[in-house]
Amino acid sequence: MKKIAIIILLFSLASCQGQEKKKNKETEISQQPVKGKLNMNTTDAEWKKVLTEEQYEVLRQKATERPFTGEYYKNFEKGVYVCAACGNPLFTSDAKFDSPCGWPSFDQAIKGSVIYKEDKTLGMTRTEVMCANCGGHLGHVFDDGPEETTGNRFCTNSVSIKFIPSKK
Ligand SMILES: [Zn+2]
Repeated sequence: MKKIAIIILLFSLASCQGQEKKKNKETEISQQPVKGKLNMNTTDAEWKKVLTEEQYEVLRQKATERPFTGEYYKNFEKGVYVCAACGNPLFTSDAKFDSPCGWPSFDQAIKGSVIYKEDKTLGMTRTEVMCANCGGHLGHVFDDGPEETTGNRFCTNSVSIKFIPSKK
């Protein structure tokens, strides 16, 4: 009886590992930067095909995800955050800080990875941050970030970015 239990345990462990490996492989494939393929010239119809409804709303229609709901606002693992639309590397985990605002917050972007635009909607003047490769809306940058570093807070939608953990 004990032997059977052990065999079953081994089998289930083996299948767990199998699944995990498969999962990793899939993640790696989808993590391949598709820079160049999707860019500023990509049409709305094409974006609708490659993005989820939520991603389209935020990245292309400039919607904002609800605070404290995003996938990454509490993620502090080592790695790189890339554009969820085109794979352009945007932020490193070293730039991320624990902001009480409820959105993933960074004190700086990777050089040349983002572009800025004045945003006067909602009765405010803010600086919109977009992916420099595809123009996808990421969020806004404010000057209330950590004083000991840059003082900037790149307030970013989790929907707009994708985290790639560092290889251990
Ligand atoms: Zn992009």
